[in-house]
Amino acid sequence: MATRYDVILRGGQIVDPGNGVNQVADIAMVGGKVAEIGDIAGTGEIERDVAGMVVMPGIIDSHVHVSPWLGGAAGHRMMALAGVTCALDMAGPIDGVTRFAAQHGCGLTIACIDYVRPGHTVTSVDPGMDELRDTLARARASGAIGLKILGGHFPLSAEASGRVMQVTADEGAYVAFHSGTVNTPQNVDGMRESCDLAAGNPLHLPHINSYTRGLDGSALVEAEEAIAILNAHPNIWSESYLAPINGNSGKCANGTPEAVATQRNLERGGFEPSQQGLAKAIADGWAMVHVLKDGINVLSRGAEGLAAWQAAETDIGISFFANPPEPRLHLATATRSDGSFAIDGLATDGGGIPRNDLCSRGLALVHLDALSIEGFVIKTSVNPARVLGLSARKGHLGVGADGDVTVLDLARLAPVASFAHGQPILLDGQVMGRGSRMLVPPQAADHVRAMGMEVLIAEPGSMIPARTA
Ligand SMILES: [Zn+2]
Repeated sequence: MATRYDVILRGGQIVDPGNGVNQVADIAMVGGKVAEIGDIAGTGEIERDVAGMVVMPGIIDSHVHVSPWLGGAAGHRMMALAGVTCALDMAGPIDGVTRFAAQHGCGLTIACIDYVRPGHTVTSVDPGMDELRDTLARARASGAIGLKILGGHFPLSAEASGRVMQVTADEGAYVAFHSGTVNTPQNVDGMRESCDLAAGNPLHLPHINSYTRGLDGSALVEAEEAIAILNAHPNIWSESYLAPINGNSGKCANGTPEAVATQRNLERGGFEPSQQGLAKAIADGWAMVHVLKDGINVLSRGAEGLAAWQAAETDIGISFFANPPEPRLHLATATRSDGSFAIDGLATDGGGIPRNDLCSRGLALVHLDALSIEGFVIKTSVNPARVLGLSARKGHLGVGADGDVTVLDLARLAPVASFAHGQPILLDGQVMGRGSRMLVPPQAADHVRAMGMEVLIAEPGSMIPARTA
């Protein structure tokens, strides 16, 4: 009797650099796992001919936002449409991320790090070790795998930023640091300071392109500087993104945008760093508002953007054209002397921020021969799986791996299908996935299961592993 599978994808180009595979073959999944690769005789509950398409381990976006604070619930659908199967929310707040994942999930696996934010999760810009240990314990109990230092948005003191990374290292938790402290802006100098403050501890340094915007000189020179700094700090894992737009909060309090980054972007465009200045910037088209249309967020400017920002009482996402092209391209493709990528991951800083462009822009680099298709898979799946401590089960298509697959149409720079744990997320142009799985620390497993989600356990110490030579 022929074997019966949940899914069979026939005749695609299987690109699985983790297992040294790049060949035309069928792939079958059963019970949420990869069951077989080769010439498959059985039948599948779901069967598709994917000849001419690339079949890769599911795309893992190592930097997204899907919280009530940033990004919003629509990010789940936006990621599903972009071929993403697993993502790391890079700020929390964790309770909002779990709530949205349970209620608005589209079948993805979601992890979250919770922000260290003065007045919210810590009492001041200079919290001590004991307070930070409590902050981490609370975040973990709610489902976060670690902490995010908000730097350029809501900075801590330099000393407290270093203490956060000491606490997460001591406890084997994840940590990411948006460079910048109360005295240092978000630029290459801020990035160098972050790397020094890590003091050899594991760190995810997000969106390297955000520190190399050429505000103080040549953006490409800054990109080279950033690469040299990362080369000197092998304890640090990094990603960059390809979109021209940034993502900020439009929220104002007492007549001023709360986020430092929003204030800076207003000044850069010649606007006052005030609520009035932001209103004028939106009306003039310098600031673009994230407006929900047909279930996804889109950029809106002028009168429509202004109306949406006012209707949200300023508490809505906004973007500015902040990223010049040259460093974005260079950081995405640069390699170290051993051939590995200088910037480990290609991410989006997307989710609910409308720039889920790993396929639309990342595959454009494949077209340009600036990135091989294996390189694309390494930066969007293999390396992100590794930093999340998931490389045994995700980031490759070996038999027994999680049934996480993204099918790419290289000609259209677009995903045509995706699966997580053998279940369709995106199929025939439709978002099929429902609910979420969450990657959580052991102490949050019951809490997150009680919200109706399956969990994967993030064992302390398994994440941001040391770089092997
Ligand atoms: Zn971000």
